[in-house]
Amino acid sequence: NAKQAGRDNFKIFQSSMASDASEQFNFEQTLRLAIQAGTQFHMFYQPKVNKDQQMTGLEALVRLELSPGKFTSPAEFIPVAEESGQIIALEELILRLVFSQLANWHKRFNNTPRVSINLSGKHLLSETFLPYLNKCMAEFAIPGEWIEFEVTESVFLNDMDRCIQVLQVLQGFNIAISIDDFGTGYSSLNYLKNLPIDVLKIDRSFVLECASLKEDAKICSTIIELASTLGLKTIAEGVETEAQFQFLKEQRCNDFQGYYFYRPMAVERIDELLEVHNQALASNVTEA
Ligand code: C2E
Ligand code: MG
Ligand code: MG
Ligand code: MG
Repeated sequence: NAKQAGRDNFKIFQSSMASDASEQFNFEQTLRLAIQAGTQFHMFYQPKVNKDQQMTGLEALVRLELSPGKFTSPAEFIPVAEESGQIIALEELILRLVFSQLANWHKRFNNTPRVSINLSGKHLLSETFLPYLNKCMAEFAIPGEWIEFEVTESVFLNDMDRCIQVLQVLQGFNIAISIDDFGTGYSSLNYLKNLPIDVLKIDRSFVLECASLKEDAKICSTIIELASTLGLKTIAEGVETEAQFQFLKEQRCNDFQGYYFYRPMAVERIDELLEVHNQALASNVTEA
């Protein structure tokens, strides 16, 4: 089951669909039915930490359980959802799953870190995004301070004026924005000065060898310096080793995320972490 799979590394369902058009069509249908039913999508959450390894945030990552215990990777089905016009329906479902979880956590814990949600550029720029978001925030009583959206640079290749408009509305709600996979896109750095962005997420491909390759080390430190110059925060994704963590810490990267600290986990495991996190905060207060 999802809980068990989350314990270890989850299995990727091998569908080898990309090669065959009819299999592609079948998978689109499967996805459509799954979105309609809504019961096979589960949210996992991966903590983000600061230099002292205290939890500072959680990233929501969707999993699709097509048959019991068989998980299909979002890297596989998100692109299919985008190409087949289903991404908005899927992300509306994800928003509801995350918001209901957030409401639950905030009822039980004094301190729940901000939760980030990955958002497709297609959805961000759609007419329905802001009205739906508004409706859900009201329905689940979610203030903007509780959430963050992660978008990739590719969204800025589209309609820059519309991007500015939408992101300014989000900023007005106090929703944070981070640029996911930063450094891998093709857009110009121009958008960094025009858009209300809070965080650059250094892509895993640069983090991978930041402690062993001069070039990747330079790229990471340059991104951190650029962010700091512009008043933005940085988080490194895909941190897997002590050496990577040490290097990035020395470069004054603000936050860190990766298997070295935590894997994406099912809700039951996050509950346990939030318990500990809240106890630690409570004892700090009494000591002070
Ligand atoms: P992403 O947003 O860049 O998420 C990071 C991915 O790297 C996640 O894969 C995460 O499990 C994985 N990861 C985290 N730490 C490490 C590490 O230390 N080493 C390695 N090798 N991998 C690590 P996941 O969950 O399979 O998601 C893949 C991508 O699918 C995400 O990349 C994101 O672009 C997309 N995705 C996931 N959930 C959602 C969602 O709810 N909505 C949308 N639109 N996209 C999603
Ligand atoms: Mg992300
Ligand atoms: Mg990322
Ligand atoms: Mg990535």
